[in-house]
Amino acid sequence: MESTSIRLGKIAGIPVGISWSLLVIAALFSFGLAEGRFPGSDPGYASGTYWLAATVTVVAFFASILAHELAHAVVARRHGLPVEGITLWLLGGIARMGAEPATPGAELRIAGVGPLSSAVVGVGFAGLAWTSDQLGIEPIVGSVFGWLALINLALAVFNAVPASPLDGGRVLAAVVWWRTGDRTRGNVGAAHAGRILGGVLVAYGLWELIGQDSDLGIWTMLVGWYIWQSAGADGRSAQARGALAGIPAVEAVRPDPPIVDESVTVDGLVAMLGHDGHHTAFVVREHDGVLRSVVTLDDIRRVPPGRRGELTLHDIAVPISQLTTAWATEPLLRVIERIPAEGRPEIVVYDDRMCLVGVVSRSDLARLAAARQVPSSPRRPARRSGSAAS
Ligand SMILES: [Zn+2]
Repeated sequence: MESTSIRLGKIAGIPVGISWSLLVIAALFSFGLAEGRFPGSDPGYASGTYWLAATVTVVAFFASILAHELAHAVVARRHGLPVEGITLWLLGGIARMGAEPATPGAELRIAGVGPLSSAVVGVGFAGLAWTSDQLGIEPIVGSVFGWLALINLALAVFNAVPASPLDGGRVLAAVVWWRTGDRTRGNVGAAHAGRILGGVLVAYGLWELIGQDSDLGIWTMLVGWYIWQSAGADGRSAQARGALAGIPAVEAVRPDPPIVDESVTVDGLVAMLGHDGHHTAFVVREHDGVLRSVVTLDDIRRVPPGRRGELTLHDIAVPISQLTTAWATEPLLRVIERIPAEGRPEIVVYDDRMCLVGVVSRSDLARLAAARQVPSSPRRPARRSGSAAS
């Protein structure tokens, strides 16, 4: 989705982009309004007038979604969270944050302001519809305002449903977190609700499509499927985060990472792995004896087998400066939040004497999370596979 978005510019310093998928929905909405809804509610205008009204309506609709996302972004920034940008796409908008809220109160305000802003915008358009009617302005103008009022109020209500990944799901998670002090419980609960909502919407869409012969069913199923998928991903990441909560970075490190000379070929390292099989990352010693770069199993796998005899670690190693670094005692979750979304996933851990303790790869994190999850919640994996099968 990121790669296919068009940059529109910045609003309040926040980069805003739109996805190509949005243009499809814009065309569908414009067509539906210009050829269906407006001629039905306000007959007697020229076709060009309907299309003008439809275009204005669709642009104002996307501006409303942008206002909703900007509200999230502004409140998040006020709580000290970095906001990476906003993208409008097929099913609405997404405001990307570089970190998680630190308190339930912050989470509640950042999530809650979204539906609230949609409600305010909806009431505003309803007021404009009423005023234009009172002033006797062309009825199609009132219809434009009326449609915008309805869609924004509908967005406010739908987004307030307490199920992940909707704003209401974040609000639910924040309330559970606040009441129990357990952040994971709130997130996992909201994700469960999201799975249920997604499943219900898919089933309802299917009934609309087949039972009612309505094309709207495809749309409902699409939204339901997206919610089902996102809620599943949210639940998995909440459980993994919960498993890693409260432990320092050093716990993720496999002690004594192998140190390999940069002159060793990839084949040479693979031969050494036959003896190791335990580590997933290796520290590379350069010709001057300094440890400045790292090689992971993933880097090795990316080298075509035919070139493993000629390429050395010097050729494929990644400088530590490109990786996320952490102190041994630093909370692991806070370090994970610092890993850039598009960057390398490895963490290089140092002790308080600036000595390199080890390298944590993505698979090390996954294995640690899985190992810590099993004893604390033995029933969870079974429940998860049960829902995925249906
Ligand atoms: Zn929202």
